[in-house]
Amino acid sequence: MATIQVTRGELSLAEKLYIPEVMRGVAITTRQLVKNVFGRKDIATRQYPDVKKPYPERFRGRHRLTWRDDGSVRCVACMLCSTACPANCIHIVAGDKGDNTVEKYPVSFEIDLLVCVYCGFCEEACPCDAIRMDSGKHPMPSFSRDKQRIRKVQLLEEGQPSTSHPGGLGN
Ligand code: SF4
Ligand code: SF4
Repeated sequence: MATIQVTRGELSLAEKLYIPEVMRGVAITTRQLVKNVFGRKDIATRQYPDVKKPYPERFRGRHRLTWRDDGSVRCVACMLCSTACPANCIHIVAGDKGDNTVEKYPVSFEIDLLVCVYCGFCEEACPCDAIRMDSGKHPMPSFSRDKQRIRKVQLLEEGQPSTSHPGGLGN
């Protein structure tokens, strides 16, 4: 492999003294500060969180679980989402619903958002429109790892009714 030699340029006397260069740096910083203070409307910076950037329609945000008409969770604990999940971050415990038309329901449903890669495979895999990532929200920062594990109750709080038929047969 060819070696490229880089020759270092000689420093001028002003550069060797550092003071003029430091003064030049301070002048640039001060000029930028004055420009930002008196020309705020021209600053491209968004005043987050007061002003939030609208997400694109297809943005994959925090998960949510949808409900049936009676308010119960649509999920039938089929495990397709957790099987499709490449990050293995969906943990479901299935229970018997005691209803032959539904059979199972998730006793617990948990997603570890710190492990999730927001690929959307879970909502793609779901045959019941039970899990969605259209909340328009991103995970909030927290001081504890446990707070990043969202559970069934939180997922349902974010949810909404869905009238789609299991198996994707439409309304
Ligand atoms: S978005 Fe992807 S990584 Fe996250 S829970 Fe769904 S399938 Fe798993
Ligand atoms: S794929 Fe849908 S119905 Fe099946 S366990 Fe996941 S959320 Fe529930």
